[in-house]
Amino acid sequence: MPARIPDGPTAPGARLTVLAGPTAVGKGTVSADVRARYPQVWLSVSATTRAPRPGEVDGVHYHFVDAPTFDRMVAEGEFLEWAVVHGRNRYGTPRTPVLERLAAGRPALLEIDLAGARQVRAAMPEARFVFLAPPSWAELERRLVGRGTEGPEERERRLATARVELAAESEFDHVIVNDEVARATDELIRVMGVPGG
Ligand code: 5GP
Repeated sequence: MPARIPDGPTAPGARLTVLAGPTAVGKGTVSADVRARYPQVWLSVSATTRAPRPGEVDGVHYHFVDAPTFDRMVAEGEFLEWAVVHGRNRYGTPRTPVLERLAAGRPALLEIDLAGARQVRAAMPEARFVFLAPPSWAELERRLVGRGTEGPEERERRLATARVELAAESEFDHVIVNDEVARATDELIRVMGVPGG
């Protein structure tokens, strides 16, 4: 008989928090704030086939990999979850580092898209699922335009994704409104139950 994976509030997966939300809501900014102010939280580093943006560092913001490498990682079952995001590039969470941190008792945070969050829920239902919401749709649009890193076509694609993602809010255990980054981060840390947070 396979070993039973423990569940309940003391299971390793209970220390895992998944942060999802629509594009440009500020998930990356909130994660960066967690990284800066709460070093006791471990942030998963995803693999992606997307090209690095200026200032992004391989192994810190993402593991930037080519398509054949991503294919191999999928084939070898290396991902806890993976998804095509904005109909374009692939992004995935390497499984082993997450399981290692959880086994060591460290709170872990995944910042991923909605499809990925659903896969994690199927694999680890005892994890915590947090939805980062914009104060309003108008504000979300403003942030998407303000970032200025995407052309008009890419922006439309991301807005379409965001509309679908906003409708999924009710699937989540907690909703945090990203009205102000430090406040949203502090609320996330409280929800995660991080000691010393
Ligand atoms: P960006 O290209 O702006 O860094 O990220 C685009 C989207 O990909 C964001 O919504 C982000 O949450 C999502 N994403 C980043 N890493 C992962 C991952 O490992 N898995 C999934 N499913 N989505 C991810």
